[in-house]
Amino acid sequence: MTKVNRIGKIYGKLLVIREGEKSSSNKITWVCKCACGKKTIVCGDNLQTGNSTSCKSCAMSLRVVSEETREKRRQNLLRDYTRMNNP
Ligand SMILES: [Zn+2]
Repeated sequence: MTKVNRIGKIYGKLLVIREGEKSSSNKITWVCKCACGKKTIVCGDNLQTGNSTSCKSCAMSLRVVSEETREKRRQNLLRDYTRMNNP
């Protein structure tokens, strides 16, 4: 099985920060930062299939976000991410 590097990729509201620990079922997980600022750990399969596109609290309060807001959030997220890696 080829290992996919998802770091820096965006899945819905989630930005992949780093690889997480293997799950109990020995699946690859990823530590993601949600657009709301929370960190969440997601199984790689769920990112791939689009099952997970936000943290759990966002998934519960799922709202329709306009494209403009989404794009703005994405840029903020990327900016935070860049800042985090370039202190
Ligand atoms: Zn969230």
